[in-house]
Parts: sequence; C-alpha cells; structure tokens
Amino acid sequence: MRVLLVEDDPMIGDSLRKGLRLEGFTVDWVEDGRAAELALETTDYALVLLDLGLPKKDGLSVLRGWRQREVTVPVLVLTARDAVPERVEGLDSGADDYLVKPFDLSELLARMRALARRRAGRAHDRIEWGALRLDLLSRAVDYRGRPVALSGREFTLLRALAEAPGAVLSREQLEERLYGWGEEVESNAIEVHVHNLRRKLNPQLIRTLRGVGYRLENLD
Ligand code: CA
Repeated sequence: MRVLLVEDDPMIGDSLRKGLRLEGFTVDWVEDGRAAELALETTDYALVLLDLGLPKKDGLSVLRGWRQREVTVPVLVLTARDAVPERVEGLDSGADDYLVKPFDLSELLARMRALARRRAGRAHDRIEWGALRLDLLSRAVDYRGRPVALSGREFTLLRALAEAPGAVLSREQLEERLYGWGEEVESNAIEVHVHNLRRKLNPQLIRTLRGVGYRLENLD
C-alpha cells in the first residue's frame, strides 16, 4: 500500500515514515502543501496522511482543493488542534478520519486499516481468492490451508493483485505500489518477485499477459 505522508515536523515525519515502512507500507514523505498537491498529481496513493499546519499551503486548503476536483483518495488528518470546531471543519472539508497528536503508531495503523477496509468494501482484514488467503493484519498468507512464508515485497505484490482479482496490473503499476521515491528498483524486480511467488504458491497462480501485465488466476 503506497501512502503519501504530508508532515512538516521533521521528527514526526521521520519517525512515521520509519514506523510505516517497518509495517510494510511504501511511504513518500513531503513537507509542505504544494509538494503534497504535486505528489498526488503524479502518483497513485491508497491513502494520504495530512498534517494541517503546513508551509506554503495549509492542509485544509489542500484537502478542499482535492475534493473540489473530485479526488477521492482517503485522507486521514493528523492534527495538533484538539478543538471540536477544527475537527468538524476537517471532516466537513473532506477528511475521512483524523488523529490528534501525539498519537500511538498502533492507533494510526488501526485507523489506516479501517479506511482501507471501507475503501475496498471489506468488513474484515482478510482477502480470500480461491484457495488463497491473506491476513492483512498479521501479513500471514496461506494457500490450500498451508502457511506460506513471504518477504515483505512479495506480500505487498500479492496483496496488490489480490485486491484487484481478475484485473491485470502492469509492471509499472506494481512497481509504484512496491517502491517509494528514491528507492532503487532493479529493472527485473517485479519479475523476480512474481517468480518467487509462483514457486512458493503455485506456478499457475499469477499469469503473465505479455506486454500488458500480471493477473491473479482463480484455480480452485
Ligand atoms: Ca505542522
């Protein structure tokens, strides 16, 4: 899941980026409102974590601009302003949820999971596709009732395919989900992860559509 983190406080931004990466998220971090707007124009995010007090353009103005342009990306507001009118204004401006600083990473993660569930129309944190089961909370995978150990990137790739079952995702789309800015991507990285997933799960589970992309097959 690729997340845009908009936070001008270097300590909070750095610790959030580190914490979220450890949890398997791909995180791009920007430190002002204009950079946030630019990032969203060029990259597809599953979620935005938005501070309100920002240089160049404040968070509420950025958020209102997105909603006016029908940008539907889920936005979780991170605010130091623990006043009811501020929270109401944030939600009325198009925020999906908010957290008041300081907060625990565990609560942020729980709220991010809740938004992802709502977005995907899921009532729980599991994805089932044929004999494949992904537990998004524990990042555990089993196939035909057998637990399968995957690396972080393999899980993220499999999750991306399983969240769009039957759809074809291009190599570029998958790279975007797996790697943030400034992260080195080997030209054959996606092929290598797909190869490993096939080996660990089932050789036929992920189909390559030459020149188009990859699709998760329902074999069972
Ligand atoms: Ca701030």
